[in-house]
Amino acid sequence: MVAGNWKMNTTVEQGLELARRVAAGCATQAAVEVAMLPPFVHLRPLREVLSSSRVLLGAQDVHWEDAGAFTGEVSAPMLAGLCDIVLVGHSERRQLFGETDEQTGRKFAALRRHGLRAIVAVGETGAERDAGSTAAVVDRQLDAVLAAAARPPTPDEWVIAYEPVWAIGTGRTATPGQAQEACAHIREHVAAVAGSAPRVLYGGSVTADSALELFRCADIDGGLIGGASLDAEAFVGIVAAAEAAGTGR
Ligand code: PEP
Repeated sequence: MVAGNWKMNTTVEQGLELARRVAAGCATQAAVEVAMLPPFVHLRPLREVLSSSRVLLGAQDVHWEDAGAFTGEVSAPMLAGLCDIVLVGHSERRQLFGETDEQTGRKFAALRRHGLRAIVAVGETGAERDAGSTAAVVDRQLDAVLAAAARPPTPDEWVIAYEPVWAIGTGRTATPGQAQEACAHIREHVAAVAGSAPRVLYGGSVTADSALELFRCADIDGGLIGGASLDAEAFVGIVAAAEAAGTGR
């Protein structure tokens, strides 16, 4: 899977143009699931543009309650039927908006209640990596999500994105060795706790140039892409790298 997180970028018009170009560029990479995660207000118009394409539509966040006095928030029942997949636990939500592990778990539970697939993002800060606590941090974040699940999630219900915070939007990609080690650990940990593990993506300053080497790693099943997802050519190049890595080319 290659998923593009547009964050708070593009007007609806710009988003429509970007989506059309990505959908056209990805039409032949049948082995890769491609998802676009635009801002909420783009979902309805993009749904129409993408209806005849194989690109999945996703949202960048969700609230854990279904309805109520939560000004500015969007709930899972509002997203069900409008999009296919929803990101929770992005480090910007955790760092800039104070989202806790427990809240991320509740968001994941809300998505499952309403039949929406989740992308759960986890990852350590630079200080946590330097302190040697990468594994402990991602385990804590994942355990909170699994603890919120009434029954263990099956691999088709979710995707995990390993996103080291120090690599997001910094141009400093994790080395394939660092990314592989963390993704392998995540897979092993989740399989031990939940009985099975879903796909594990890497995210953090992935470009069309760095993607192939990362995606060739045994435990990296694709990427969550921020900055490069706003450039149709770059994003399609990353999807092509995933296709090439998956087919062993
Ligand atoms: C992200 O925000 O999920 C991300 C991976 O961003 P970037 O690719 O810009 O580092």
